[in-house]
Amino acid sequence: MFCKNCGEQIDDNAVVCPKCGVAVKEVAATTASDDAPNMGFAVLGFFFPIVGLILYLVWHTEYPLKAKSCGKGALIGFCVGVVAGILMGIMVTCIATAATMDTVAPLLML
Ligand SMILES: [Zn+2]
Repeated sequence: MFCKNCGEQIDDNAVVCPKCGVAVKEVAATTASDDAPNMGFAVLGFFFPIVGLILYLVWHTEYPLKAKSCGKGALIGFCVGVVAGILMGIMVTCIATAATMDTVAPLLML
């Protein structure tokens, strides 16, 4: 390849031009340019915590910001799921207990 600054032919793997000393590769551009916090993946992780967790594990080295979105969404989704599960369990237990009391109480009265 050729140096963008002076036009000298340089090695393809060269980081700095040996003639003019200007950096050849843009370091920032080469490191996962499409990595950014992503609301869509956070929502996906919220509704499907397992998917969010998998995406987090797959991306956390290559796309740390995108992975963080997935992980955060998955964590919130998981917590909400657990709380909803507990509330459902309490509700079902209450309804079941109430129903049992309704059928048992009159029998005890007799
Ligand atoms: Zn140069």
